[in-house]
Order: sequence, then structure tokens, then C-alpha cells
Amino acid sequence: MALIVQKYGGTSVGTLERIAAVADEVRAVRELGDDVVVVVSAMSGETNRLLVMAKTLDRHPNPRELDVLLSTGEQVTIALLSICLESKGCPARSYTGGQVHIRTDNAYNKARILGIDHRRVEEDLAKGRVVVVAGFQGVDEHGNITTLGRGGSDTTAVALAAALSARECQIFTDVDGVYTADPRVVPEARRLDRVTYEEMLELASLGAKVLQIRAVEFARKYNVPLRVLSSFQPGKGTLIAEEAAMEQPLISGVTCNRDEAKLTVLGVPDRPGIAHRILGPVAKANIEVDMIVQNVGEDGTTDFTFTVNRSDYEAALEILKQVAGDLGAREVTGDRRIAKVSLVGVAMRSHAGIASRMFEALATEGINIRMISTSEIKISVVVDEKYAELGVRSLHTEFGLGQNG
Ligand code: ADP
Ligand code: ASP
Ligand code: MG
Repeated sequence: MALIVQKYGGTSVGTLERIAAVADEVRAVRELGDDVVVVVSAMSGETNRLLVMAKTLDRHPNPRELDVLLSTGEQVTIALLSICLESKGCPARSYTGGQVHIRTDNAYNKARILGIDHRRVEEDLAKGRVVVVAGFQGVDEHGNITTLGRGGSDTTAVALAAALSARECQIFTDVDGVYTADPRVVPEARRLDRVTYEEMLELASLGAKVLQIRAVEFARKYNVPLRVLSSFQPGKGTLIAEEAAMEQPLISGVTCNRDEAKLTVLGVPDRPGIAHRILGPVAKANIEVDMIVQNVGEDGTTDFTFTVNRSDYEAALEILKQVAGDLGAREVTGDRRIAKVSLVGVAMRSHAGIASRMFEALATEGINIRMISTSEIKISVVVDEKYAELGVRSLHTEFGLGQNG
């Protein structure tokens, strides 16, 4: 007998019929003899609905109170699922994050899990119960409710799987696995049987929102086998684990991220310490910088460009205007309508020429590349947002990633 942690996302528990279907699935696993801990999200649309209500009252809601509000979505689902399981003769107990001591730091709206006291869960499992835990939430050291950032139920599931040494953490969603590209953007995208943690981390960081980045980080750190499956159709899904597939493809996936914005300081005097003078105040304001490009000018000045999360754009622009004045720079410009398109694959390490093939494919479509960044297993380019989907589709075709590739 083993322990399995299953997580069901918003669409998988979006209606009472869906919750009943999940209860049947859980009961079936239980009847095969395995212990089950279930983590659920809020019913689909619920977290957004709550967010809109808060923002109607205050454009920048108090973060602590926002977490009290957002955590209610998951509390509804755990109760409904447990009620349904009990009605089907399957003993179950629901718990909020605080009740099973999912301890986090106190960074409201994006808290990190510090530890889980799983005794209570184990006691219930020993009594033959299914334990249903609210995803996306925890408590800080003072007992304040915190939430883990959008998509955070994935991380709750992996953290519980790690703490309880589960055999597998199964993430049930509305697609039957991880695909070579978002199937909503590229209909001919292909499901991957297996991806490594390292690749999945890049895919998630670069825009494949099928798993929260922190969930993948956690799974990798504690070596939790993670599987993405559909709650709507049977199948073996995609396994995310340490070893690569037998026949590792050159490219595992193409992703797109629209969460960034670009800022440029033009005509900065080209002197040592400039990068620090520009980025120091940005870092001090707790704004994360992603790509950075500095041009070498001929007139003794340089242009300095970088990207930040779109939600930090205004704050970064304000800071730069101040800095530009102090440095005697010519101008500050910005663009929030950009997208980052990326290719990910561990096999890239041993292959040259992928970047030039990528750039050529984009050029053929008339897509201008604004910035480039590379690592051993990924190449990212910043393009105008309007070309994002075309970029993803053309690269998917160029590298033969489709069903018939
Ligand atoms: P849940 O509510 O179950 O957590 P999400 O909406 O967070 O579901 O994640 C599933 C969605 O992720 C899919 O509907 C799909 O559109 C999107 N997605 C983006 N990139 C990929 C990818 N490479 N493979 C699979 N799904 C992807
Ligand atoms: N309900 C939260 C969200 O919509 C957490 C999750 O679903 O994972 O982001
Ligand atoms: Mg999700």
C-alpha cells in the first residue's frame, strides 16, 4: 500500500457534477488499497471573482485581508468534496492549510512554505480516511492566513507529497499532460511522456502555466515524482522526474510569456558602475529584473535595456526617471506590449545552430527580435506582443514538434 497525493485544479472541481466525478475517482483509488491525500483548488473562476470584488473596493487591497478573502475559495471546495466522499461511503476529512499547519513566511499573496506538521494527516490516514486539504494557503508564525501565489495549489500538493513521502504527486487538470506548446495556442502540439525537472522548471518559468514554478522547484528538491493528468479523460499523462526520456528530443517545448515589460535608459554616459547605478535602486524597490542588454554607443554614451514583471512596470519607470536625471541620461522609454518566446530542451546543450535556426524562422515571419537571452537549455527572445502566438506557432513548426513532426 502506498500513499498518493492528488491535486484537482479549478476546472476539475468547477461544478457539483465535477466534484462528484472527482469523488468517484478518489474512491476508486482508495478501493485499490492506496491511501489518498487530495488537494483542491477553488472552483474555476472563484479566485478571480473574489479578486475583482476586493479590487472594486480598493485598487490595491490590503494584502493580509486579500489573503483572508482568497483563501475562502479553497475552503468551499474541500468541504463540498468531503461531503460528497462521505455520501458515497468513503470516509473523509477536510482541512484548511492552517489546520494541517502549512507554515509559511508572511509574504502575503506570494508566501513560501517553510514546513508542514503532517501528524494530523497521518492519524487520519491510519484511520482509513481520505484527507482533503485546501490548496494555495498556509499560516505564518503568528497564525495569519497567507496564500502562495496564483496556481499555488500545485505547490501545496507537492509539499504534502514531499512531507508524507508519497509515491507520486498527481496533478489533475484540464489537459492530459505537458505539451510541446500550450495546446490552446498550438492545436497540433504533442503531449510529452516525460520531461526532466530541469526542463519543466524552464518551461514553467518561461510561461507554461500548467504547473506553478515553485511546485516544480519543490518536486526537484525533494525528488517527488510528479505527474500531470487530465481529470476528464483517462491516460498516463506526463511524468516529470530526474532522468530524461530514452529518446530525448532536441527541443521539448515552445513557451510564451506576456507577463513582462521592457524599459530603456537612452544616452547614459558610458562609465564604470553604470549598470549598478541603474539597477541598484530597482533591486532596492524589490523589483526583479529578467533580461538585460547594454549597447555600446560611439559617442561615449550607451543605451541600457532590461525587462521586469509587467506589474512592476510603473514603479520601475518612476525609479528610472529619477536615476536618469541623476546620471544625465538623455531619455527613459518603456514598452509594456512585449512578449517573451522561448525554446526549451536539455538536448540543446550538445547541439549548435539552434539559435540561428530560431532567428531565421522568426525572420521569415517578419518578426523583429528586440532582445535575446540564452542558457544551456533555453533560448528566449523578446518580440512585440502582437507576434507572440505567431512566433510560438512558427517555431513549433520549424522544429517539427507537432503530431506529425
Ligand atoms: P488548473 O486550474 O487545473 O490548475 P491551469 O489553467 O493552471 O489548470 O493549467 C492548465 C492549462 O495550462 C491548460 O489548459 C493549458 O492551456 C495551459 N498550458 C500552457 N502551456 C502548456 C503546456 N506546455 N502543456 C500543457 N498545458 C499548458
Ligand atoms: N485558486 C488559486 C488560483 O486560482 C490557486 C490554484 O488554483 O492553484 O490561482
Ligand atoms: Mg494551475
